[in-house]
Amino acid sequence: MSETLSNLSREERRFEPPADLAAAANVKEDAYERAASDREAFWAEAAERLDWGTKWDQVLDWSNAPFAKWFVGGTLNAAVNCVDRHVDAGNGDKVAIHWVGEPEGDARDITYADLQAEVSRAANALTDLGVAKGDRVAIYMPMIPEVVVSMLACARLGAPHTVVFGGFSADALASRVTDCGAKVIITADGGYRRGSASALKPAVDEAVAKVGDLVEKVVVVRRTGQDVEWDDSRDVWWHDVVGAASPEHEAEMHDSEHPLYVMYTSGTTGQPKGILHTTGGYLTGTSYTHWSVFDLKDDDVYWCTADVGWVTGHSYMVYGPLANGATQVMYEGTPDSPHRGRWWEICEKYGVTIFYTAPTAIRTFMKWGDDIPAKFDLSKIRVLGSVGESINPEAYVWYRKTIGGAGSGGREVPVVDTWWQTETGQIMISPLPGVTAGKPGSAMKALPGIEVDVVNDEAESVGNGNGGYLVIREPWPAMLRTIWGDDQRFKDTYWSRWEGLYFAGDGAKLDEDGDIWLLGRVDDVMNVSGHRLSTTEIESALVSHPKVAEAAVVGASDDTTGQAVCAFVILRETAGDGGADIVEELRKHVQKEIGAIAKPRQIMVVPELPKTRSGKIMRRLLKDIAEHREVGDVTTLADSTVMDLIKGKEGAGA
Ligand code: ATP
Ligand code: MG
Repeated sequence: MSETLSNLSREERRFEPPADLAAAANVKEDAYERAASDREAFWAEAAERLDWGTKWDQVLDWSNAPFAKWFVGGTLNAAVNCVDRHVDAGNGDKVAIHWVGEPEGDARDITYADLQAEVSRAANALTDLGVAKGDRVAIYMPMIPEVVVSMLACARLGAPHTVVFGGFSADALASRVTDCGAKVIITADGGYRRGSASALKPAVDEAVAKVGDLVEKVVVVRRTGQDVEWDDSRDVWWHDVVGAASPEHEAEMHDSEHPLYVMYTSGTTGQPKGILHTTGGYLTGTSYTHWSVFDLKDDDVYWCTADVGWVTGHSYMVYGPLANGATQVMYEGTPDSPHRGRWWEICEKYGVTIFYTAPTAIRTFMKWGDDIPAKFDLSKIRVLGSVGESINPEAYVWYRKTIGGAGSGGREVPVVDTWWQTETGQIMISPLPGVTAGKPGSAMKALPGIEVDVVNDEAESVGNGNGGYLVIREPWPAMLRTIWGDDQRFKDTYWSRWEGLYFAGDGAKLDEDGDIWLLGRVDDVMNVSGHRLSTTEIESALVSHPKVAEAAVVGASDDTTGQAVCAFVILRETAGDGGADIVEELRKHVQKEIGAIAKPRQIMVVPELPKTRSGKIMRRLLKDIAEHREVGDVTTLADSTVMDLIKGKEGAGA
């Protein structure tokens, strides 16, 4: 990657911040300047957003780099910051969560006062079950309010939680429980997805059987009422233990560096890593960025559609928004249950003003057609966010127009493309909606207080107009502290490539204005006849064709060119089967958009793509198909049947 990536997209659209939003924005232009002149003072000011038991005496201790300590000597309680202090400030009646179950009509509003009582009860119940400060608790639950209550109860006690995505198998759960040594698992009998009740408890039983005596108690929320196996010595019902507990709980102040949670990365590239986040810095980073990037106001209704089993569900559904005292929507099910307008119906009903989702969802809605969101009143929406992978320019423009096109006076609203990782804990690169212009497909610039750069193999800045490796130059508050139980792996994985630089694994380029375009993981960069091509740009070229909704590109080994571009595409429903010449049409389209070098050798039209729970395409599995290999590990796929669907198409359309 030392040389510039060969293909540079020709995206030239640019959208300035709306004047009224800019005038009232939480964060103004000067924040960049202030942060650059004294980064620690800037983050210390952000930390003042929180309530501290004891104030810190040192903002950052970086003497034992790369092991950071933020707000050294300070104490606080994350649950108190997310709940109690809002009640104490007189906002107990404010809705914290408009919870919407998948079955229609199954909804609940939870105020901050309700949340305080529930979290306190759960903290008391967990204490009675033997959970003490420092013990680990695994949480394997559907998207129901109890998952938030469980996380906050753990945080209150100082018992780090590890939330495992409810779609993962018993094996995946068992390996995470073992790795972090969890003695209690909180789960549910099941949850609703795609129109029916799916079971969770059997996977817990299977996982517990695998891990030996480690797990002492399993707490089960009754959600669906389905039959469950029961072990009296180990299993307890949530409604029994939490229901009977006192709603009063005295919270202890924990050290700023006390572990808050361990989150296993989604495993797009390989063996999951237990990313450790601690308390003071994490809460500072997430609450500040949630407030600044989404320009959060007191009367906003915010909705982040991420599953809680992903880091986005931690930072931008639980800790960031609740620390900010926001009102938010939480939805249990899938976007198409019972109809494909469900999300928009929810936006209309609750008057959602800030909406945060992933490109994969946006492309799915593009595939389904514009007439679906058009049936609903989305006029309250004022900021749209995207996270998880690069947003293809076409998907960005569609999102702005179709979902955000009903702003006041029919105006389109800003889209913030937010780049960050499980490891970074907080958003790192994103426009600020009232300050930064938006360019479709670009995450624009590092937030105030964040120092990123794009470098070559020698760690030299590549400068504007060039591509290279995305690195972070200075520590930031919500940064990971280590990999759970493996400091060496932490150093090797993130800090060993270049002295003093955090390497994130992603490629990026700077345009002539110095704005940042994420180009996907460097492992995915293809080398075709000596040209380095980014998967992201070819995928975006494919998605810019009116018949295409989604595309995934991999480099497959090729005798003549080294690697050849292989593409997998999902068509928009309006395109039918695409017509007899669809493959040729798309190959030509890529040639026209980028150049002959990027023209795919092979294009397969497929019904689905393999994705992780955060909606990322698992290219390594597609590469297995393109290179005619046995398909590798599929345990972190959101839907493991997808590979069979794709393999069924193999040979067709190539
Ligand atoms: P693993 O590290 O186990 O392979 P993962 O990287 O998929 O898993 P996450 O931490 O959820 O797990 O994802 C972070 C990655 O997602 C980033 O490194 C980047 O590749 C991608 N990403 C996230 N947001 C964006 C964005 N706005 N633009 C481009 N890429 C993004
Ligand atoms: Mg990663």
